[in-house]
Amino acid sequence: MTKYIFITGGVVSSLGKGIIGASLGKLLRARGYSVAIQKFDPYINVDPGTMSPFQHGEVFVTDDGAETDLDLGHYERFIDTNFSQISNVTSGSVYQTVIQKERKGDYLGATVQVIPHITNEIKSRIIKAQKHFKPDFQIIEIGGTIGDIESLPFIESIRQFKTEIGIGNAINIHCTLLPYLPTSGELKTKPSQHSVHVLRSYGLQPEILVCRTSKPIPKTEKDKLALFCSVSKDAVIECRDMKSIYEVPLALEEQKFANVVLKLLQSEERPANLDAWRNLVDKINHPKRTIKIAIAGKYTKLSDAYISVVESIKHAGYAHDVKTEIKWINSEECTDEKQCSELLKDVQGVVVPGGFGVRGIEGKLNVIKYVREHNVPFLGICLGMQCAVIEYARHMAGLKGANSTEFDENCAYPVIDLMAEQKNIKGYGGSMRLGAYDCHIKKGTKAHDAYGASKISERHRHRYEVNTDYIDQLKKAGLVFSGMSPDGMLSEIVELPQNDWFVACQFHPEFKSRPERPHPLFKGLIEAAVNKCV
Ligand code: GLN
Repeated sequence: MTKYIFITGGVVSSLGKGIIGASLGKLLRARGYSVAIQKFDPYINVDPGTMSPFQHGEVFVTDDGAETDLDLGHYERFIDTNFSQISNVTSGSVYQTVIQKERKGDYLGATVQVIPHITNEIKSRIIKAQKHFKPDFQIIEIGGTIGDIESLPFIESIRQFKTEIGIGNAINIHCTLLPYLPTSGELKTKPSQHSVHVLRSYGLQPEILVCRTSKPIPKTEKDKLALFCSVSKDAVIECRDMKSIYEVPLALEEQKFANVVLKLLQSEERPANLDAWRNLVDKINHPKRTIKIAIAGKYTKLSDAYISVVESIKHAGYAHDVKTEIKWINSEECTDEKQCSELLKDVQGVVVPGGFGVRGIEGKLNVIKYVREHNVPFLGICLGMQCAVIEYARHMAGLKGANSTEFDENCAYPVIDLMAEQKNIKGYGGSMRLGAYDCHIKKGTKAHDAYGASKISERHRHRYEVNTDYIDQLKKAGLVFSGMSPDGMLSEIVELPQNDWFVACQFHPEFKSRPERPHPLFKGLIEAAVNKCV
């Protein structure tokens, strides 16, 4: 029987509930339990696909093509399980379903209300995920901070669900912050107490408190929190700031976090096998050297906008025993070759990630020309691949004025064009080529060497593609099309054999990299970058 773990947050937002939930998932998996997760986001957008990465960070794409919250990326990386559309639930999607049902007459004339109709729909999503994954444990994280008006239907649904399923089958972990006051030299517990009061006023009593803190929590303060928040003393868990997020599961394991959870959920205690993870953390903490990788993009002010790319670079670094430092380069500043040479002089590799819209494009093209000509290891992702093709067309295939119709509909050579099936789509949201598709890789290419396979599957999120009308010209000019869709119609990977690592892909490899299993294309990039140092 599935046991349910609800995670709420109090005091402030951005507490890292996702990392705490993912870490718990890891600890349960390390005990041989199966784990599924769900992220409930109280905003009205149907999914984050239409939200600006500046506001909401990266849009994480699942195998089945859902555009989801970036926390799902943490969950997949920590728990090493692929999640799905039902793993991300927003108020928008819940209301959409209820309103559609109402229009169809499914409610038989009833007045449709938050309770019970919205809360029933939320509870049915929990059950839907349970039926799909049939996990031993289902972790459900509620986005936002307790006290937010918009999360109330979710909190009420948990209250009902917990009551219905009975003691020992569901718990609530409440994450809070203990602010440190330097003037008195104290960690303060009052905001946490208050947020638990608010939670209780909604009828929810947390069983476990996880407290984010910059300093160790003295026993006296832990006891105080236990007393005032009515949790047992061993259920006050400290979550200190760590150098790497991958250390969090181990820090929580030391405090027997998972054991407390198992006891509360009346589940069998089992020994945890965390050897591989401990090795990973050891590698993270003892790199042989540091290398610098540039990310040349548009959303460089918010690293969350490219979080999976950053994590994938780190994973590949761990495999090569190097620490990877990211140099953020705003592509708008890459105005000419001199500027590129100045900005890229101290980096050993460059990633041009995905993106939308014309801003910063010419700068990306300048960066790609520079790395191609100077043999700087390069990985282009989605828009990054489209830019690599445009750059090659303009400067190597004699197609001056080549562009994507996304940026210039009337360009001389539309080497990147809207996909046929995209041409009649009007609305936004869930309308791109999304999710996992197969790709065939040509033998004898760098991509084939990296994957060690001829058939792969990768996740996509795009509307445009390489225009097949220009493939022959580009091939003649030396661009190698090393990966194609099984029907040979869509270009998936391009590369240059003469460069150490100049590989670009239409899909998003960053969504499939795992800390213990870095993605082959990132591994290839980092290997070439490391070789630059010797
Ligand atoms: N804007 C491009 C397209 O829609 C690239 C998308 C991306 O990089 N995710 O095809």
